[in-house]
Amino acid sequence: MSDTDRQSSTAKLSRRDALKISGVTGLAGVIGGRALVESRSAEDTGEQNGELVKTICNHCAVGCGLKVEVADGQIVGQESWDNHPINEGGLCAKGSATAQSAQSPNRLKEPLYLEDGNWMQYDDWGDAISEVAQELDRIRDEYGPDSTMWMGSAKVNNEEAYLFRKLAAFYGTNNVDHQARICHSTTVAGLANTWGFGAQTQTVPDVKNADANLIIGHNPAESHPVAMRYIQETRQNGGEVIVAEPRRTKTAAHADEYVRFRPGTDIAFINGLLHHIVFNLNAHDEEFLSERVYDWETAKSNIEDYDLETVSDITGTSVSDLEATAEALADAETSTIEWSMGSTQHSNGTQNIRSYAILNLALGHSAQSGGGLNPFRGHSNVQGATDLCILSHSLPGYYGLDEDAWRHWTNVWNETPSTSGSITYSEMRERFYNEEFMHKEGLTVSRWYEGALDDDTRKSDLHQPEQVRAVVVWGHSMESLSELKRVKQALENVELVVVVDPFPASAGVLGEREDGVIMLPASTQVETPGSVTNTNRSVQWRFETVPEPAHNARHDWQIMVDLADELGFGEHFDYEEIEDVTREYNLGMRTIGQIGQTPARLKRQAEQSEVFSSEDLQADVPDDHELAGEYWGLPWPCWHEDHPGTPILYDDSKHPKDGGLDFRARWGVEDGDGTTLLRDSYEPSWWNEEIFGVPQYPNWHTVLPDGDNPAAKTIPIEYAESEQHSPYETAVELAEQGYDVDPGEYEEYDHSQPDPPTGRGRARATTPNLHDEVPVYREPIETPRPDLAEEYPSQDEITDHFRLDLDNRGNQQQFIEEEIDESYPLALTTGRQVEHQGGGATTRSTLGTASRAPMMYAEVNPTVANDLGVDTGDWVWVRTDPGSMLVQVKVTERVGEGTVFMPFHWSGLFEGKNITDRYPDDAQPRVVGDSANIGTSVGYDVETCMQATKATLCSVDVADDDEVPDLPEEQQQYQEYRYPRNER
Ligand code: SF4
Repeated sequence: MSDTDRQSSTAKLSRRDALKISGVTGLAGVIGGRALVESRSAEDTGEQNGELVKTICNHCAVGCGLKVEVADGQIVGQESWDNHPINEGGLCAKGSATAQSAQSPNRLKEPLYLEDGNWMQYDDWGDAISEVAQELDRIRDEYGPDSTMWMGSAKVNNEEAYLFRKLAAFYGTNNVDHQARICHSTTVAGLANTWGFGAQTQTVPDVKNADANLIIGHNPAESHPVAMRYIQETRQNGGEVIVAEPRRTKTAAHADEYVRFRPGTDIAFINGLLHHIVFNLNAHDEEFLSERVYDWETAKSNIEDYDLETVSDITGTSVSDLEATAEALADAETSTIEWSMGSTQHSNGTQNIRSYAILNLALGHSAQSGGGLNPFRGHSNVQGATDLCILSHSLPGYYGLDEDAWRHWTNVWNETPSTSGSITYSEMRERFYNEEFMHKEGLTVSRWYEGALDDDTRKSDLHQPEQVRAVVVWGHSMESLSELKRVKQALENVELVVVVDPFPASAGVLGEREDGVIMLPASTQVETPGSVTNTNRSVQWRFETVPEPAHNARHDWQIMVDLADELGFGEHFDYEEIEDVTREYNLGMRTIGQIGQTPARLKRQAEQSEVFSSEDLQADVPDDHELAGEYWGLPWPCWHEDHPGTPILYDDSKHPKDGGLDFRARWGVEDGDGTTLLRDSYEPSWWNEEIFGVPQYPNWHTVLPDGDNPAAKTIPIEYAESEQHSPYETAVELAEQGYDVDPGEYEEYDHSQPDPPTGRGRARATTPNLHDEVPVYREPIETPRPDLAEEYPSQDEITDHFRLDLDNRGNQQQFIEEEIDESYPLALTTGRQVEHQGGGATTRSTLGTASRAPMMYAEVNPTVANDLGVDTGDWVWVRTDPGSMLVQVKVTERVGEGTVFMPFHWSGLFEGKNITDRYPDDAQPRVVGDSANIGTSVGYDVETCMQATKATLCSVDVADDDEVPDLPEEQQQYQEYRYPRNER
């Protein structure tokens, strides 16, 4: 480690806003600007006496930098990283408690197993890993490899995400998935099918360059607080910020306009805006649509029916609000749309996102600084874990599961110098149940539990040989899943539950079991070196902070290496250091260009972070400087070791070697009718001739460089970027070298011009490969408007959808027949609190965050509260068709009279019953509450199996006094401090 990696210091710092670990216990708060302090044996020195190590916050995907203070091999505090180009030292409540989380006394401390209902400690790690492996081998032998479900994490670093997917592959199953399934799988499907890649098109700071920012289904003031500074800059720059939401969020309080619409009606809302822009204002960009978009006409005819009166009836939004919103976007030079899970978690979530993309394309605002689409990712590395594809339908890099995909990755695993093993495609096939199941998409995180229930309790046919008998839950919160009562049943029905987490995650305690649960303590990410990809595709390096994680925890990647060894394929996991893993996936991740982000380059950037601008994330250095041209985090695609990264996707105003890109020619060169899928030619300022639309360069995603230099240019990448070579010449060269390429297919593309390897295609306004080729409005499954469901029905039944049947329409009809809107007259939606993250296992066990937000609650409108006769802090039952939740009330006008909101970070109560006695004694969460997802609905997106949590129907009634649960004493103190009874 270099001096700049680990900055030793004994000087007193002038700005000391970080916590110090001290002996103070009990209730504390952020008082007088001083952070909370944690009970710990080290004393508060008051002056810095350790080493400062740069790392990245492990909560949300903004990717804020901070420095942790290390003394005597332990994390003892934290400081700001002032010249980090994204957050410039600023942190939210979660980031400010990073060191506290690492040193929390509530962490899982030893490998444990459940015996007769008691948590027992293994003698050592070897015994624990050995038992896990033996049990997984037994399950494999008795039932086959698909009788396991591997649920991975968006919280681990890229290297560990990659290893988890590889581990499942070598075990022989595609039943492997992670949180991205339930947060942004619909984003990825919607965007990748529109223009090639399924990711944020701009950077976090670039949103300030928008003239208009439509924030929809997204509450960054709580979910991504540091990003709010750039949203605020939009307004300071004269731009307009519009928040469109069922709930008047904290973000809405900072916006120019707030527009309310009924939960689940996004597509009608957006199609209404488009209708006004196109048919009333004639403000769409005909030239952009003509030159760079495929089949705008079909999309245009789809929006014809969505006149403003019709849309107003569906959404509940006034015609004047619809007009004003559309006109603000139409008046803007460039506009952006930001969203999060309020948009994605719907049974037609993929089409929600498609509607946003079509709106942005119609305005001609895509593919430029200040314009585009920005799905804000949740967990700190959910972008990276998605890219590395802990996903049941793909191998790393979105290669899919077909034979070519497996041949590519077995080639990588064979060629990599990082491990000693060798493997062929045929040998890999032998590890699976059969070839069909090697290529068949697996069960998803969102519905895995159906596969673990018995035939007579399962809601669907199961399209795999045997039901699930064992689950491995690695850094994943079960309380994030809808139909949580069925999840609980499944956790009770399997033979083995393995949980790996820094804190005792709910998977280990939710099921009422006496045995068959193993919990392994993992390190926190702030203790772990490796890379992490933020929401705008920037890859950042976390330096090693401590020689060993706290307690008897181990790094996730080391646990995986040992498990692979015990499972008999250790020669494919015998890495010497975590950088070996990075280099291995650099070799294979050709599709999205996660190639040039080598450990050496990432560390070099972190060491010299002061040279990067927070304006455009580019290094502000002389041309001969080693960082010249580079963008912070080398945002993918970064095609090779000299490429600067791509801050703005599809930006054709730059040379490809400087980070330019074009819409990806992903679907070939023409459609079935002979209509071109390639862009029109154009004359950019960076080139003195015409640039033509071209296909993807031949074999650009499968040709490998020498494994010793995974970031070296391959022929297709070198030829694409060069000014002298064409796709045709590339094909000729590859054919001469023995690759399986037919130059005849490329003859007409003999344009010697600089290109991205992904060619120059068109964005698609229509997507014939999806269930709806254009975004068609569909009523939520639990609809409060049965009269609309006939005209706008849910999708019909799909057989064998991720190994289960999906019947959104059948469920919708059943609810209508049962008159569910009569029993449950209110709409339930869910979301985040600024202090908590995900399922809350970490933040509810960390003093600083737990004490600041100690109450699980349901927001109800004052009118509803008045009718019920309740006030903030009183207990109510929120009831839905799937289940009931006992929560405290928060009375607020943020929600309308017809809506109830609950945060989704909570567990420890289950339908009102306190279950903390099921946790290991020394690792219970500090604050507990009922889980919102006990009550969320049964719908799933027809493309990705995303759960639909944002449009459930519910009722609220007052709880009896004898139903009020006993909360932990500490929690009661926090609540009294935050919500004093005499001030409620
Ligand atoms: Fe930054 Fe997100 Fe961490 Fe808050 S949680 S400090 S916004 S990365």
